[in-house]
Formats: sequence, C-alpha cells, structure tokens
Amino acid sequence: MKKIIFATGNEDKMKEIREILADTDWQVQSLKEAGIQADIVEDGKTFEENAEIKAKTICQMTGEIVLADDSGLEIDYLNKEPGIYSARYMGEDTSYHIKNARLIERLDQVPDEKRTARFVCAIAAAFPDGSVKTVRGVMEGRIGYEEKGENGFGYDPIFYLPEYGCTSAELSREEKNEISHRGKALRAIKKELV
Ligand code: IMP
Repeated sequence: MKKIIFATGNEDKMKEIREILADTDWQVQSLKEAGIQADIVEDGKTFEENAEIKAKTICQMTGEIVLADDSGLEIDYLNKEPGIYSARYMGEDTSYHIKNARLIERLDQVPDEKRTARFVCAIAAAFPDGSVKTVRGVMEGRIGYEEKGENGFGYDPIFYLPEYGCTSAELSREEKNEISHRGKALRAIKKELV
C-alpha cells in the first residue's frame, strides 16, 4: 500500500479524503498519525500558495508524498473578503455566529444579484522529487440574509445555494461533499495521484 500524508489536524477533512481515496491503494495518514508536529506560517497571497507552503514543508520533513489544503469564502461585494483570511477574520477565537452576523451587516441593503460569493479550496500535492501539483475546487452561491441550517461549519449557515433553495448548512454531509469546493478539489487531486 502506498502512503500519503494529509497535512491537517481536522478529522472531518481526514474522513472525506479517506472516503474519496477508498477505491485506491493509497493509505492516508494525518499529521498526528504520522507523528509530525509542525507550526507552519501560512504567509502566501493565494489559497494555492498557502496549500503549497504546507505540502512542501511537510514533504521536505518526511520524504513522503504530502497533500495540504487551504480554503475560504470570497464575497464579491467585499472585494473577495474574507478570502485567505477566512479563519482569521475578526480573530480566530470569534464565534462564527458573530462573524456571520457581521458579514450580513456589511451587505445591508445589497440586492440579491450583488451578493454573489464562492467557497474556494486549493489542494497541493508535494512529491519527494520536488514537484508539486495544485488543483482548485469552487462552489458558487450567494450570501443570505440570516443564518439557516445546523449542518456544516463556519460560514455554511449564510452561504445560500440558489439551485438548491437552501444554505450549505442545510445540506447533508453527503450532499455537500458532492458539490463542495473541497469535494471537487479532492476528486481533482486524486487524478494526479492514481
Ligand atoms: P482552512 O482551509 O481549514 O484554513 O479553513 C479556512 C476557513 O474557511 C474555515 O475556517 C472557514 O472559516 C472557511 N471555510 C472553508 N470551507 C468552508 C466550508 O465548507 N464551510 C464553511 N466555511 C468554510
């Protein structure tokens, strides 16, 4: 079995990548499972740069093939904020209930057609020979007028999907994985591995 490390401490992301790679002969380990402790400064200017920084750093430390992701929410009316700063927006410790309320407030009086937004996920695969492959997955939607739904996490309750008539927090885990930025990026990076 071939081994791969996914540079994340997030169990939900691990579960999703394991599901997607289940029909391959890749064995995926989290950083913890691989016994790695790393504090990586994500100082890239794009989702892709941040994913590459993480993947390359762990690849150089271990000599294994390493995947890393970086994701966030881009709101067109706010010049693509919070973007790569999505996790850090208003401070890491601020609740998403407060962050979501603030974003809705910043879009006060903004009509539907100008509330366009997208979730972006870049995934980089760093190989021991020094090469790197990077893919991007996107889920398009709009910022709603109030929080709705209990599933998902982060900005999901305000991310309205017009074709589905609900927010991404109202989709089941499986439904969201089918159409999400992360699901798309994971399926795309799989093609680079097999
Ligand atoms: P990271 O890629 O794990 O650093 O996550 C970036 C941040 O983007 C998260 O902390 C969330 O704020 C936001 N984000 C990324 N993907 C999603 C999603 O699927 N739903 C809601 N928020 C998300």
